[in-house]
Amino acid sequence: MFDALSDRLDSAWKKLRGQDKISQSNIQEALREVRRALLEADVNLQVVKDFITEVEAKAQGAEVISGVRPDQQFIKIVYDELLGVMGEENVPLAEATTAPTIVLMAGLQGTGKTTATAKLALHLRKINRSCMMVATDVYRPAAIDQLKTLGKQIEVPVFDMGSDANPVEIARQGVERAKAEGIDTVIIDTAGRLQIDQDMMGELARIKETVQPHEILLVVDAMTGQEAASLTRTFHEQIGITGAILTKMDGDSRGGAALSVRRISGQPIKFIGVGEKVEALQPFYPDRMASRILGMGDVLTLVEKAQEEIDFADAEKMQEKILSAKFDFTDFLKQMRLLKNMGSLGGIMKMLPGMNKLTDDQLKQGETQLKRCEAMINSMTHKERRDPDLLASSPSRRKRVASGSGYKEPDVTKLVSDFQRMRTMMQQMTQGGGFPGMPGGSG
Ligand code: GDP
Repeated sequence: MFDALSDRLDSAWKKLRGQDKISQSNIQEALREVRRALLEADVNLQVVKDFITEVEAKAQGAEVISGVRPDQQFIKIVYDELLGVMGEENVPLAEATTAPTIVLMAGLQGTGKTTATAKLALHLRKINRSCMMVATDVYRPAAIDQLKTLGKQIEVPVFDMGSDANPVEIARQGVERAKAEGIDTVIIDTAGRLQIDQDMMGELARIKETVQPHEILLVVDAMTGQEAASLTRTFHEQIGITGAILTKMDGDSRGGAALSVRRISGQPIKFIGVGEKVEALQPFYPDRMASRILGMGDVLTLVEKAQEEIDFADAEKMQEKILSAKFDFTDFLKQMRLLKNMGSLGGIMKMLPGMNKLTDDQLKQGETQLKRCEAMINSMTHKERRDPDLLASSPSRRKRVASGSGYKEPDVTKLVSDFQRMRTMMQQMTQGGGFPGMPGGSG
């Protein structure tokens, strides 16, 4: 999901990497990439325009944050704006003060409306809300059977009156029945057409009028892209929706719908469908979705954590040390501990752009290497930590460190030589930002 978008954004970040500050000129290309990416993802044109304008304004006014690269900062701005568009938080399903809560499902045929009805019922059942489903799609007799089959499967009762009854009447009686039986939530599946037509809208409006639902959820097929925007607009203008369920997010969706629905209707996406099975429903979390859209794992968490955890005065001292080649094993240990405070190495690496494709094996290897380094450094004397050359020139010191840490002398030799090489490299680095490379690796 969102692959096209992530790849686009990824190339935009690449163009920004290596710049030391966000500026009017150097974000233009990145903005163009974001714009193109969103358009390719079928986000509604107006939504894209607003989005870019906002991001540009925010990027230009952005303060430089030390310890954070401009490309990371730009990602954070784009991310925040994605949240702005999709809504900040998950909005749960409404719950009426007096039962039953009435949920009306709306949408075109084939979007996954009937499936979503059952998925939602199962979801509610799992959180101990009793449910009843009501089958009002009399135009497609198979739809009633489909709902009944699903009902049996998830052990949720289905109210139907066959295919000769009037849908409005079925809905009304369904709600009455739910009330009589003390059901918490009644979900009304309605008829969908292949295209929006006035009969369908009229019927939906009458059902709404009759049962006064607490929730009208538009079921939107994520695969439909641009069309999702106009569909949302029509349903919202004519019926008034309170939220949406985005289905088929497991497929090859280009994701534009997620951005458009909220912006156009002002109503939240409440759930996403991620498969054909009845269990395949998830509450919609805008933050998770935004990170997924960015395809960056979680750079912004990294940025936020870096902002919280790094003591900037300390960071500056560290940088001075690096530049003057005074960076020693004690500093290295400190950096490692800082990394650890920020979470597991695997977690950190996954947050970095381009690193989210690292395999778990590679990540585990990295963690193991860090642990090795730490064990060996812990076995060094203070003097040795301050002056790695002592170790470089003394096999007996290396042997002692090896036996103290449970490793072999060649491991210590490698750590020391890698460390010295790293120190030289760090001096040559003209740009700060990233964390130093890791000595003691096996390769
Ligand atoms: P309705 O006409 O809107 O009621 O659509 P259905 O509920 O009958 O679903 C249409 C098709 O989409 C069925 O084959 C479903 O299995 C499939 N479907 C529904 N939701 C999802 C989903 O989230 N992911 C995938 N992959 N397929 C889904």
